[in-house]
Amino acid sequence: MLFGIVLLLCIAIYAFFSKEKNNSYEDYKEDVIFNIKWRWGYSYGKISNLVAYCPKCDYQLHYVDISNYGLIPKICFVCENCNQFTSQEFNKEVYEVEDTIKRKIALNIRNMATKQK
Ligand SMILES: [Zn+2]
Repeated sequence: MLFGIVLLLCIAIYAFFSKEKNNSYEDYKEDVIFNIKWRWGYSYGKISNLVAYCPKCDYQLHYVDISNYGLIPKICFVCENCNQFTSQEFNKEVYEVEDTIKRKIALNIRNMATKQK
């Protein structure tokens, strides 16, 4: 009987803490956006160290300027490890793409918070 109560208590405590952990947006540090795998961290509550990875082999991507010296910026992300991944073209500078990604992450965090209520 006592063992049963202790066991139930342990399960309740475990469930409580694992739920607590799931509630933290800071566990959300990876997602696929625009078919690119992004990873990031948090610094003082803000998204930091946003890095793009290949969705096929997980190698860190680098961006290539394909604007051909045109007036409108145009970049894409490529994988030089597997050579099997080229992202869509973005008519933006790389910092603008990263800014868009950060805003999408922020939206996802807000949606997570709304779902948990
Ligand atoms: Zn790759």
